[in-house]
Amino acid sequence: MTALISQQTRVRDEICLVGKSLFDRGLTAGSSGNLSVRLDDGSLIVTPTNACLGELVPEQLTHLDEAGGFISGSAPTKEAGLHHCIYCQQGSAKAVVHLHSTHSVAVSMLPELPPDDLLPPLTAYYIMRVGRLPLVPYFPPGDPALFAAVGEQAKTAHAMLLSNHGPVVAGKSLRDAQYATEELEETAKLYLLVGHRNPRQLTPEQVAHLR
Ligand code: ZN
Repeated sequence: MTALISQQTRVRDEICLVGKSLFDRGLTAGSSGNLSVRLDDGSLIVTPTNACLGELVPEQLTHLDEAGGFISGSAPTKEAGLHHCIYCQQGSAKAVVHLHSTHSVAVSMLPELPPDDLLPPLTAYYIMRVGRLPLVPYFPPGDPALFAAVGEQAKTAHAMLLSNHGPVVAGKSLRDAQYATEELEETAKLYLLVGHRNPRQLTPEQVAHLR
């Protein structure tokens, strides 16, 4: 019990630190974006509704039980269902990051990209941290149909882009999910910079080696 309390204290502090870092670097704006971590007992710490990631307070984060039921803290983000449906599918996922990061959202709007894997293999770190990136069709934020569609993709991918909305990325730790989301955003930026100029891509052999 004591170990779980100290884990929860550490996780709350880390969510606030990561949220501020993401916000300060312009990776999500206003009160957009949300973060969650799954504790050892299966319960979740998630960011509250209408919270600016740059101004999170450890004690005000929301504690939900394994089934997504409210335990304590502020009202949870309306997008808590996004997080919950990924944890349901991926036993190894310990954290989920969801942002409205500009370049990733821009890529999610491009109709010519293949929806089963949006971005080409441009860099090694993208392949290692993100891998395959499917597109989830557009649904209004908070729509249960969106959560169901995310759950479906989570059966085979730990990162995905919500159409006209933003990335959702799961990881084995909050840092793992954060770094993968940032790698995705940087690769989306690269794609927007050079994608129309037929850039050299990693070969299938190079990709296979990285995977
Ligand atoms: Zn969102």
